[in-house]
Amino acid sequence: MSAIPRYLRVAVPSPLYRHFDYLPAEHTDITRLQPGVRVRIPFGRRDVIGVLLETAAHTEIAAAKLKRARRVLDDTPVLGEDMLWLARWAADYYRHPLGEVVQALLPAPLRQGKAAELPDPCSWRPTAAGIAADLAALARAPKQAALLQALRQHPAGSDAAALEAAGVTRGAALRALVKRGWAERTPPAAALAGAVTIAAASVPLNAAQRAAADTIHAALATFQAFLLEGITGSGKTEVYLDVIAASVQHGRQALVLVPEIGLTPQLITRFCARFQHVALFHSGLSDNQRLATWLAARDGRAPVVVGTRSAVFVPLKNPGLIVVDEEHDASFKQQEGLRYSARDLAVVRAQRHAIPIVLGSATPSLESLHNVRQRRYTRLNLPERAGSARHPSLRLLDIRSRPLDEGLSDLLLDAVHRHLAGGGQVLLFLNRRGYAPTLMCHHCGQVVQCRRCDARMTLHGDRRLLCHHCGAERSPPAHCEQCGSADFGAYGQGTQRIEAALTRHFPDAGVVRIDRDSTRRKHSMEKLFAGVRLGRHRILVGTQMLAKGHDFPAVTLVGILDADQGLFGTDFRASERMAQLIIQVAGRAGRADRPGEVLIQTHHPQHPLLTHLVGEGYGSFAALLLAERRDTGLPPFAAMALLRAEATGAAAPRVFLEAARTRLAPHCGKQVQLLGPVPAPMERRAGRHRAQLVLLAAQRSLLQRALAAALPELDALKEARRVRWSLDVDPAETH
Ligand code: ADP
Ligand code: ZN
Ligand code: ZN
Repeated sequence: MSAIPRYLRVAVPSPLYRHFDYLPAEHTDITRLQPGVRVRIPFGRRDVIGVLLETAAHTEIAAAKLKRARRVLDDTPVLGEDMLWLARWAADYYRHPLGEVVQALLPAPLRQGKAAELPDPCSWRPTAAGIAADLAALARAPKQAALLQALRQHPAGSDAAALEAAGVTRGAALRALVKRGWAERTPPAAALAGAVTIAAASVPLNAAQRAAADTIHAALATFQAFLLEGITGSGKTEVYLDVIAASVQHGRQALVLVPEIGLTPQLITRFCARFQHVALFHSGLSDNQRLATWLAARDGRAPVVVGTRSAVFVPLKNPGLIVVDEEHDASFKQQEGLRYSARDLAVVRAQRHAIPIVLGSATPSLESLHNVRQRRYTRLNLPERAGSARHPSLRLLDIRSRPLDEGLSDLLLDAVHRHLAGGGQVLLFLNRRGYAPTLMCHHCGQVVQCRRCDARMTLHGDRRLLCHHCGAERSPPAHCEQCGSADFGAYGQGTQRIEAALTRHFPDAGVVRIDRDSTRRKHSMEKLFAGVRLGRHRILVGTQMLAKGHDFPAVTLVGILDADQGLFGTDFRASERMAQLIIQVAGRAGRADRPGEVLIQTHHPQHPLLTHLVGEGYGSFAALLLAERRDTGLPPFAAMALLRAEATGAAAPRVFLEAARTRLAPHCGKQVQLLGPVPAPMERRAGRHRAQLVLLAAQRSLLQRALAAALPELDALKEARRVRWSLDVDPAETH
């Protein structure tokens, strides 16, 4: 007997671990409703937008309590079968309420109930000539120059609203640029992915690239995960372009995920040069621009979608291939709300779609290397730099008994001299912004602390103290709180201080600093990089912003000022991250045909991790770390989850986690370890006390089962009302 559906089962934006049943609105033909359409429903005292999961013949809700939906918003589902499946999968894996996961999958306008349609916005983009043009030629036409610069920021096209937001005028300036052949209308998205013209590759692939690309070609239309390993400059991007072209030629769409900082105009330009139309999806776009990409991808009009983390939720009508560039990058992990890993979800998606996925990196995550060893992923290797560039050589500088000037050893300063004299550029890396990380009383040694965090304040310039954890800001105190002395000293170095010291040593080198502070203003990063490429700046000092995405072909020396930070970090991933950062920064050296030199300052030149990394390379270093993780039973050899709690009071988080532990314990048995609760490594942050409970299991399924059984109970605990708590499955950081 087939029962007639009478109820709507709806995913509601709510933190509750359940779905909700409704009666259909009056005059709705419920048999014609497809899962994935949006419905407006009364919820509590408000109306909210939910997504229909299914229609049901039965409900457990008492008839008197059932409410009626107000109306259905869509004729066709906004979330198709695949995306609903992905939402369910993610809700299950991350133990997150399905209603919130479904919300995370929708672009903002759809969450707000706006129509799932957009007129194709008329947009403009620079031509290849416009990208190559020297802005100096427009010195007398500042409006054109400003417009061209704004257009270059978005090689895939800017619509009128975006240009207005950038504060540039269009009108006559735009007509003039078009006349010069420097700007053009962005061609309308191809009606179907298959109808795209693809430009020929600018360089033929070398043998290693060809072999890698052929292996991936052979897997098109089946699920297979590839780890494409190759140092910076080995030509991974050319391999992506080649296999994407093959997929698009078959009428299939490609989704490319890149780290937040990797989505540079250079990269977009390369993709645009190859494919007529590239749809972008990242946080720098307006809600409507993102919606336009989302709809075009869903309807099969976008052959190639390039985006950051959240682009993993962009629906594809004809999926053909997924690429995750710099798969080790931490920005693929969402750190609040639904704490998903875009890389991991991308693999899950590829499996569901039965298509190949390519994870690329010079410094693969231990997770992916482990998956290769388990034969879940296929490793493809690009051992050499493409073209004529050579490997940089890495060397440790023992600075234990060397004279240091603001953290710069004489050895390093000599090398800078040598490279500048030889006509090279120099890149110095220090992952600490500001002037100095500590302001200390000379008299009693008291350090100026943030009042809201267990952390010291960082000195910026000479009259501003900033907390890098909560953003608190104040001026340096006149007197020490402990002893009353007025004598303070700045200890340690930040990028500002290094910049000042280098300017003193090399006044003619045009020292430039690149970090979050110096690039805060719109387009300022592009301007600084342009100055570097033109040779105006011969020394660059910066943070990890320098580590990816940008090429500095004339850089011949890379100096890493402090390699020791990562050796003794509290997080179990600290040394993995340190090595990745060092190798990524080192990869900036000698990209063209000049040999690069990489010098690493350390107080621990005999530390086995450092000597291994420098002597044997990343692969061997990673093998060492993997052995260590296996011996200590940490990921990727175990599944981990972290239950976090925070509150303004010191006791509440601990009390809640103790109660949570009591609830979890019976479901954990011997197979799932419960560690803690313990205070978070930085216990107080932004005025809130934080504690955590770690769950660790050799078998993921056991961990998942324990969480599934216990989590719904945690919300009901009375101790839960005093804290904010969250669950992080596969945490990227344990603090
Ligand atoms: P990766 O993505 O691994 O950093 P890219 O694909 O960006 O490497 O290539 C680095 C540089 O080498 C680019 O300038 C690219 O144009 C060039 N290149 C890549 N493949 C080849 C090749 N087969 N022959 C010559 N040059 C190449
Ligand atoms: Zn003092
Ligand atoms: Zn603070």
